Formats: sequence, structure tokens, C-alpha cells
Amino acid sequence: MKLGKLASEIAESPTLSLNEEARILHERGEAVINLGIGEPKNKTPLNAILSAAAKLTSGEVKYTPVDGIPSLKKAIVRYTEENYDRLAAPENILVTNGAKQSIFNILFSLLNPRDEVIIIAPYWVSYPEIVKMCMARPVIVTPEDGTFTPRFEDIEKAVTSDTRAIIVNSPNNPSGVIYPPELLEKLVGFCERKGIHLVCDDIYHKLTFDEKVAIPAFRFTEKDIENSHIIIVNGVAKIYGMTGFRVGWVVAPRELVRVMTNVTAQMTSGVSPVSQAAAEGALNGLQSVVEAIRLQIQNNRDVLLQEMKSFNGVRFIPPDGTFYVLPDMRAYNYNSVELSKFLLKKALVVTVPGKDFGMEGHIRLSYSGTVKEVTEGIARIKWALDPTQANEIYIGDKKMVRDWL
Ligand code: PMP
Repeated sequence: MKLGKLASEIAESPTLSLNEEARILHERGEAVINLGIGEPKNKTPLNAILSAAAKLTSGEVKYTPVDGIPSLKKAIVRYTEENYDRLAAPENILVTNGAKQSIFNILFSLLNPRDEVIIIAPYWVSYPEIVKMCMARPVIVTPEDGTFTPRFEDIEKAVTSDTRAIIVNSPNNPSGVIYPPELLEKLVGFCERKGIHLVCDDIYHKLTFDEKVAIPAFRFTEKDIENSHIIIVNGVAKIYGMTGFRVGWVVAPRELVRVMTNVTAQMTSGVSPVSQAAAEGALNGLQSVVEAIRLQIQNNRDVLLQEMKSFNGVRFIPPDGTFYVLPDMRAYNYNSVELSKFLLKKALVVTVPGKDFGMEGHIRLSYSGTVKEVTEGIARIKWALDPTQANEIYIGDKKMVRDWL
């Protein structure tokens, strides 16, 4: 079959395909541990369930306004005022099918073919692919000191007259790093001077550890949403653990929201009203659910740090947020795709190759699951790779002997 060049060149989502592989193994009865998946284990917050159920039982499940139902937008306006200290109008908000569609809509609405978008490595796998779908060019800036925190000067150097946007994701998927406020401050000032859009993917902004906080970019400007170059992406997937509802949103100047609404109208129409009702329920409900998720993940992070201590040769930056860590595995294998495949085959643990995040030689481990999954998952990886570990381990009820080191 002759397929289109643009679409054929879009990479498969490595995280989604690994999850699928894990699901198939699990269905076959294998004791697979998924440290690849990025979603909290919690049940949907009660208020979200009740709100979605009420929508369903009303039997009125029809098309909604493309940009989102007014009552959900009202909740997002309030969320924006509370978390970003900026007044927002409903016209500044677009509700989308997950934050993924938010990012697509922003870039599709801003970019012309061959425009450039700065992406900081390690980056979320979808950014470069979405930029390419818009026929624009991803320009990757990689911190050279191995810290996962870029230097402002390196970002500045990568900017050309074709640069239209810089994407910032802090706390960062996959590294768990929170960018320092000084960097954000410089970026905000720079983008304002240059007329470049600063797209802040804040999807993990409340999942931070040890009293550390991710300061929003709006803290570093006096401008209001209408006149700012800052564009906010957020959603219910991570902070409420509501990945399956597919509700994200953009906060942006009205003109951009108007164009993005037209794009959405021709592409997907509005998000399912059941999902929008659920998101509204979550936003208007008890916010202690977010803190409960945060605490559970922080505890998992502590367990992970403990388990990693005895992993010979593996260096990593302790994460300050999200539910990921990106250890440097070069002591064992420079090729992260090969390493991830090896770990799945020998230890039945799903990991994501760092190559997909622009960081070869690393693997991403998610600790969003249970403590048992984190402990056992890391133990299995150590067993599979590190010759100083005992060479026998139980995987499920099978005793496995390591015979390859
Ligand atoms: N941005 C980042 C950094 C993410 O990690 C994810 C999900 N993995 C998304 C956006 C997309 O979120 P959603 O599920 O709401 O589409």
C-alpha cells in the first residue's frame, strides 16, 4: 500500500506499544511488572465518578460546545486563578482530548511548515513527532553536563529567526527534574523580547516531592494571559490519576483559542460530555485526592531510591517530581532499546528506552505503581544485570537462575 510520507514517518509511540506488549504477556499469565506505564494506581476520585454518572443517567449525552462545556471551563478558570495567579476568561480556555491534543492543537495553530520548535532533552516522546506532524522542525537542546537541566545560554544559542516556540515540561517526563526558577525567569523574559511562545506543559505540576514546588512561568511576568507569550497545558490525567477520561486543556490568548477551536471542530469535535463531567467533578471536588496521590508516589520514590542504592554502576538524578526516574545504564549497555528488550525477556520488567526521550544509554522507570511492583521490578533488573547480586530470584512462582553473566 502506498502511504503518505508525512504520516509514515511518524514514530510509533514507544510507551503505548510497550504497554500493549506488557498487557499481552500479562494475559498469557506471565508475572510481568510494568515500570513503563505512566499513570497513578488510584481509583477515579469519587466526585468525578458521581459527576460522570449523573451525566450518563441524564441520558443527555450529545455533542458539546467544541471548546468545552461552560461549567467545566468555569472550573478551569478557577483552577487557573488559584494555581497561576492570573485572571482567565472562558475564551482563554480550550478543553481537549487529553493534554496530548492540547499540544497538537497549539503547535498546529502556531506553526508554518519549516518553522522551528525548541525541545529540551530529555523530552516527552511525543513532542518531536507532533512538531513533525505540523511539518515543522524540532530543534533539540541537550544539556551537556548530564544534569537534565538545560543552560539558558544553550537554549538561546539554538534559537533562530525560524523559532516559533519553546516547550518546557517541568517537572519533567522522563527525568523527574524540576527546572530552576532562574531558568524559567530567563526564558520568560527572552520569549517576551523575541516574540517566541513558551509552551508550558504543566501536566505534573502538583506531583512534586519534599516540599519542592514547580513555580509557574506566570510568576515571572506582569502580563495577563491575553498579552503573554506563555501558553499553559494542563489536564486531569496525572494529578487526579484520570488518564482514561482524556481531558486536558490549554490556557492561551483568545485569538489562539479561537483558531484551535476551529482546528478541533474540524478534527474531533468536543470531548465526550461524560469525560468533561468527570473532569469538572474532579476539579470541583475534594482536592485532598491530589495530595493522597502525591504522597503515595513520593513514598514509592523513596522506596525506589533505597532499592537503587545497591545497584552497581548505575548513576541517576533523584527525581523531584512526576513518577519517573531516568537512570544512566551505560555501565551495562549503551543501547537502551536493546537493554529494554533484554529486561523484558529475562526479567519480565517493562522499561522504556531512553533513546525515545533523546537520552540514549538511559532507561525510564516509572514508579507510579504499587510499592511491591517498584521493589520487585528494581530487584529483577539488578538481578538481570548486576553480577554482584545473588544469581537466583523468584519471578512469580518460578525460581530463575541467572546464567548469562
Ligand atoms: N505531557 C506529558 C509530559 C506527558 O507525560 C503526558 C502523558 N504521558 C501528556 C502530556 C499527555 O497527557 P494526556 O494523557 O492528558 O493526553
